[in-house]
Amino acid sequence: MSNKPRIVFTRDEMLQMNIKSLNERGVTVEDIATVTYNQQSRYTKDIDFKICIESVEKLLSLRDVFHYLQLSIAIDVLAEKKMLPQPLQDIIYHDLGLFGVDEVMGLDVAGTYGTIGQTNFGDIDVNKPGIVRVLNDSGKEEGTCHTFLDDIVGAIAAAASTRVAQVINESEAHVKEYERRTLFDAEE
Ligand code: MG
Repeated sequence: MSNKPRIVFTRDEMLQMNIKSLNERGVTVEDIATVTYNQQSRYTKDIDFKICIESVEKLLSLRDVFHYLQLSIAIDVLAEKKMLPQPLQDIIYHDLGLFGVDEVMGLDVAGTYGTIGQTNFGDIDVNKPGIVRVLNDSGKEEGTCHTFLDDIVGAIAAAASTRVAQVINESEAHVKEYERRTLFDAEE
């Protein structure tokens, strides 16, 4: 047996660790899926909430998202414990508006299923629906820091919303009788 620490995990392990970490910070998969559902419902009627849950869970099982989420929560928790070096401690704890590293991380996660995810993220970042508003407001309370968590949660909701749109478009493409035009049709 080597003493090498385990640093790679299965998708199911990452999903379970992410759910646990989110729950410890007061966030559920349903909270995120609700933001996804409400955003995508503006464009498509009768979305099945289950696709939103499935999309959020899919994202939470991805290695990149696992790293982003775990890092985001770790930074917030260290800021709450006043354990970051200065002046980063004050910048992050007081959520300085011009500190944009949290948004950049969010933008990367948001684009997982297509560039429209970054537009979806911008919408969520500005309008702060549901759990994003809750995290934003509670993050201002003494002893609580959600500087990174609100963005990563909003980004997961945005990427999940994009995945829902991709799934719907894919099934539409299979069902609809689109006019079939190919390059060869143009030569006729
Ligand atoms: Mg933030």
